Formats: sequence, C-alpha cells, structure tokens
Amino acid sequence: MKRFLLATLLTASLAAVSSPASAALKVLACEPEWGALAQELGGDKVDVTVATTALQDPHHVQAKPSLIARARNAELLACTGAGLEVGWLPILIQQSGNPAIQPGKPGNFAASDFVQKLDVPTRVDRADGDVHPEGNPHIQTDPRNIAKVAAALSQRLAQIDAANAAFYAQRGQDFAKRWDAALARWATQAAPLRGMPILVQHKAWSYMENWLGLQYVDALEPKPGVEPTASHLQEILARQKDHPARLIAYAAYQDARSADWLAERARIPAVQLPFTVGGTPAAKDLFGLYDDTLARLLKGAGK
Ligand SMILES: [Zn+2]
Repeated sequence: MKRFLLATLLTASLAAVSSPASAALKVLACEPEWGALAQELGGDKVDVTVATTALQDPHHVQAKPSLIARARNAELLACTGAGLEVGWLPILIQQSGNPAIQPGKPGNFAASDFVQKLDVPTRVDRADGDVHPEGNPHIQTDPRNIAKVAAALSQRLAQIDAANAAFYAQRGQDFAKRWDAALARWATQAAPLRGMPILVQHKAWSYMENWLGLQYVDALEPKPGVEPTASHLQEILARQKDHPARLIAYAAYQDARSADWLAERARIPAVQLPFTVGGTPAAKDLFGLYDDTLARLLKGAGK
C-alpha cells in the first residue's frame, strides 16, 4: 500500500514537472462562455476551470468547498459581473482568501465592464422582483459582445502573464479574425428573423433581441427571477390574440414546463436555446453556441 502510494505520488509530481499545464496560468471562469473564451485566447498557456455548467442557473450557485478551493488557487477570475453572480461570488472570493482575485485587482475580470449594458433600470425597487440593478447581465446572448470581451480578456491575460504577452496578442488577433468572419455569416443567416416577435421565459435575451432585431413581447416570469404562475401564463395567452409571438425562447438550464404549457395552447413552438457553451450538444464551443442558437430560432420560426 505504502509503495503504491509512493509510486502514485512520484508519478503525480513528475507529471506536475513535465506537464505544460503546471506552468499554465490558472483561470477560474464563473460561466462556461468565459471559460471557453479564456481557452480560445490562452491555448496551452492557460489551465481553465469553470464554476458552473450550462445546466445550472448562474444567478444561484452554491459556493461549495470544492469551488472555494479552486478560487484559492486561481490567478485570474473571469466572470460576467453586473450583479449576475451577486448571490454567490462575493462569498466565494472572500472565502478563497486569494488576494490576486479580489475586486479591483488585475486577477478579477468582469466581462460586463467592457460592453454597453441594456435594461439599466431608472429606479430599483425590490417589489419589481429579482431585478438586475446594474442592467441586464446576460451579455453573452449577443456575439458582438464576445468580440469586445475577447479584446479586453486578451489584454488582461498579457498583463497577468507578461512572459507570454506576444503569444496572447497573436492568439487574440487570430480569434478576432475568425470571430469577424463568423459574425458576417450569422448576420446573413439571421436575416429572416428580423422583426420576429418572441416570448421569453426569463428576461435573459435582451442582447440577442438587439443583435437579431427580434421584438420582445413578454416574459413568462411575472417578475425577473420569479417562477411563472398559472395566472400570469393565462394573461400572456390572452394577449396572444392581439400581440401574437412566433415562439417562446427559454434557456437550457430552465424548467421547460411553463414554456411547453403555453406553447401548446398558443400553438407556437417552445424553443430551447443553449444560452451558453454546453447548453445543447451542438453548442460545443463559442462558435457552436451561436450556430446552434440561430439554427434553433430559424427552425422555430419555420424558416
Ligand atoms: Zn437574469
């Protein structure tokens, strides 16, 4: 047993010495999209772990000991910010005791700092539900925001890991080129969706609506963060007569029952969208995320 343990320890330490991952910059991403972006920009110079999966609600995450341990070792924390993680990230950062990732430090990166926020409330009232006082944090539903965040994250990687600055710069340029080509392709594919009225489960799609020129009709949640109620769904169904929506969009992490209930009665499709990398089998990476989002919207719209 002892010999086995020793051998295992030896192998482990050797692996740590010889593997390039040991020298790699340790990145902890709060959501899968930022993990995927850090990986795109950092290649083998980064060791990325992600705090949540696409099937978890990013508003509500438990700061479990395993997550705290990962935060303790992180050299860069890449999150959405704008209050999305307000219920769990401050605790996680505090419990980590890691000075490098404290707010204001280069190791604390908030993606939403680099984009124009939508739905910024003019007044904040608890009675309005679990509203996001800093504006809508779901910025990843517009791939044009990814381009902005990528430029900032690329610079941040170079700042923290200066020895590899040239590598990050080159990788950032390469990503920007491929992303621009994808944006042009998506714009062409999405043309038939322009002006389409949609219902959404959570008000999580404002940036996507802005990107594609979709028309927001109503949210199934009576207030942000509050589960749909039967009476609210009935009201939306009644309004369908005068203001018909073409489909209902909901995120992969959400319960589909309300959307399905309404879809059946309103005779429109409930369309599950990946929302982030890993939300659907086709959303394997950032490119797949928007490829699949568009494919699902076009199919739902019957285009
Ligand atoms: Zn939200």
